[in-house]
Amino acid sequence: MELRARHTILAEGCRGSITKKLFDAFDLRRGAAPQTYGIGIKELWEVPAETHRKGLVLHTIGWPLDSATYGGSFLYHWGENLVSYGFVVGLDYRNPWLSPFEEMQRLKTHPAVRGNFKGGRRIAYGARAISEGGLQSLPKLTFPGGCLAGDTAGFLNVPKIKGTHAAMKSGMLAAEAVLAARALGEAEPVALTEAFRGSWLHEELAAVRNIRPGFARWGLWGGLVNAAIDTYVFRGKAPWTLGYKHADNETLLEADAAPPIAYPKPDGVLGFDRNSSVFISNTNHAENQPAHLRLREPDKAIARNWISFRSPETRYCPAGVYEIVGAEEGKPRLQINAQNCVHCKTCDIKDPGQNIDWCTPEGGGGPNYPAGM
Ligand code: SF4
Repeated sequence: MELRARHTILAEGCRGSITKKLFDAFDLRRGAAPQTYGIGIKELWEVPAETHRKGLVLHTIGWPLDSATYGGSFLYHWGENLVSYGFVVGLDYRNPWLSPFEEMQRLKTHPAVRGNFKGGRRIAYGARAISEGGLQSLPKLTFPGGCLAGDTAGFLNVPKIKGTHAAMKSGMLAAEAVLAARALGEAEPVALTEAFRGSWLHEELAAVRNIRPGFARWGLWGGLVNAAIDTYVFRGKAPWTLGYKHADNETLLEADAAPPIAYPKPDGVLGFDRNSSVFISNTNHAENQPAHLRLREPDKAIARNWISFRSPETRYCPAGVYEIVGAEEGKPRLQINAQNCVHCKTCDIKDPGQNIDWCTPEGGGGPNYPAGM
């Protein structure tokens, strides 16, 4: 496919597939800190009226994650007896045995959380990566023939876990810059960079820029101290900017060097398995469409991922797409159940050798989320 418009505004969401190519083609990431991501997993529940407390908001940080791993949850009671529950894990985590999906299930068993689901039933499931790097991880926003908007660039306010307003503002700035470029007959909408720097969006992201990297450097407790100092002492105007030392695919320890994690078995009431979760994500891929999950070097699935990390993709994928079969017979082989994919893009980000390429599947197959997901 060719895009022949004079200007194209790319708003593909986190880890955009075309954007990824543009980063290389126009060297857009030069001078920027590595982008860092989180995987967000979400469930929508319908609960009995006696369980529902409309307007209740609950945010957590820490448990069940260890103090070296960044993550937390949100839970909202809203609408007609609905509860939205989401869990985010920073993809810079180090333990290859960690499963974001199982951590999400486990948090529901905490005494302060489990009552929110009492007597209820889960009605929807989904997962998606989010860009967590913040201001210092933003790429150059413009290139000859277009510009970037929304989470494909990385305009998320991480401490607030909010990006819709930022996506809208960056889209408005992009549209104005394209109009200005058209009026001047220029291919590159260069006005966008200055317009962004002068906007409230830049001010908002600058004020929180040091919070996420603090957790990446010093873990939960050091990160909280850093966040408190940055917010309440410097009020977001500290005379330094913390960067990120590694991309998320570079942080995993080898499997032998990390403690395995034992997760409780799903009871089908509060905790669930991946297959039943994918079923309610309303995703469907036509069986004869080209595979959208491709290995650049198929041999590395075993030679590198299995041997060194015991195939972390079988744990970080929230849809059970990746499976190792034949290990017990001494002939491990990676099986890719691509039809299960819920398009979160975590494998494209976290694969240690960047060997997995998530390509855009044919459209129309979902996930089709109900309102509130
Ligand atoms: S295959 Fe990749 S993109 Fe699809 S659900 Fe699994 S981790 Fe996400």
